[in-house]
Amino acid sequence: MKPSLEDFLLSAIRTIPDYPKPGILFRDITTLLGNARAFRRAVDELVHPYAGLKIDKVAGVEARGFILGGAMAHQLSSGFVPIRKKGKLPHDIVRVAYSLEYGVDEMEMHRDAIRAGERVILVDDLIATGGTAEGAVKLLQQMGANIIAACFVIDLPDLGGRSKLEALGVEVNTLIS
Ligand code: AMP
Repeated sequence: MKPSLEDFLLSAIRTIPDYPKPGILFRDITTLLGNARAFRRAVDELVHPYAGLKIDKVAGVEARGFILGGAMAHQLSSGFVPIRKKGKLPHDIVRVAYSLEYGVDEMEMHRDAIRAGERVILVDDLIATGGTAEGAVKLLQQMGANIIAACFVIDLPDLGGRSKLEALGVEVNTLIS
């Protein structure tokens, strides 16, 4: 029997226990990225809900969101916008603080990367607590983006990230739960 999409993609992802610290099951997508069929399928499925829609920009969260987002932008014929950790972007930026499991950090985007009203899709590899994605949504909203959806290869539903984004009015699409 042919495996389901979810089983196929899951089998291409490597799980590393106790990384980066004890108790964390790290979902390592580098094995999926290195597998031509799995990478293509993941990107095809990520863009599927937006096929035929006008998408101005795909915004990817550093660093794995860059890889997925670049491929998605190519497929959707849209631009790509990097959302980066602080201090990496050379021009005028907007910044937001976001919550991590323990503590806070900041992320940045170029102020001129998105014009008010542009239709944007946000992407990252995985949503856990949703703190990172919530920060990215706030940055995009600050610039007046029309966020069409946020998408992720993996959702860890027990950690509540999806509901956090949905509470902000953002549609969430994921491939593996
Ligand atoms: P969060 O802000 O809690 O939703 O965490 C999401 C961010 O942390 C994403 O950029 C993920 O790449 C990374 N991340 C969190 N938990 C994991 C995990 N179990 N495996 C791999 N990456 C993770």
